Amino acid sequence: MTLPYQSAHEELHYLDRAGWLRAAVLGANDGIVSVSSLIVGVAAAGPDRAAILIAGAAGLAAGAMSMAAGEYVSVSSQSDVERADIARERQALIDTPEAEERELASIYESRGLSPQTAALVARELTARDALAAHVRDELGLSEVHAANPLQAAFASGLTFTVAAAVPMAAAALAPAAQIIPAVVVSTLVSLAGLGALGAHAGGAPKLRATARVLFWGAAAMAITAGVGRMFGVAV
Ligand SMILES: [Zn+2]
Repeated sequence: MTLPYQSAHEELHYLDRAGWLRAAVLGANDGIVSVSSLIVGVAAAGPDRAAILIAGAAGLAAGAMSMAAGEYVSVSSQSDVERADIARERQALIDTPEAEERELASIYESRGLSPQTAALVARELTARDALAAHVRDELGLSEVHAANPLQAAFASGLTFTVAAAVPMAAAALAPAAQIIPAVVVSTLVSLAGLGALGAHAGGAPKLRATARVLFWGAAAMAITAGVGRMFGVAV
């Protein structure tokens, strides 16, 4: 039985420390890219500032709710899967304890222990806390994965909103003729900062991560600007 993220110990280590920060950076990234693209797209079609800000505010509210709902559903279903897996292990330990111990031994053997050592390790860990050993070594779960769906929903909705406020502020404060460049520049600067922060949180190379978010942010704004202009000309 395997789960989507059966990870090695070192990987888990990063997830423990950076899980929430990574989620926050992703939410913020989404907030900036989607709302700034929306604003640039509407502005390219040529309406006045009030209409641009209404579109941005609607996009902000819709996006934040969608992020929160998506996060809630994904974290809940993930923890449902984990709970069901753990319940199955608990039942299997009651029904077929010998088979479970052999299973544990074969896991340790596949990780490089000799059959004798693997059997000994399986025996001693089973005697100490059989369920914990199966949850950890067979399912690859640790306590830290027990994320709270409401907390995750709130965090991603909030980071989305805070980040989306950047292009909103740029659109509200820039001179009327400079709304698009102001939104584009403030978006790219914020994305670069977020990319570096996200890479730092995940222990990944910073330059590549930053270039990646900059590319996709610029592409999103360019495409929606093109669409906005098309409709603006057509109308
Ligand atoms: Zn098992």
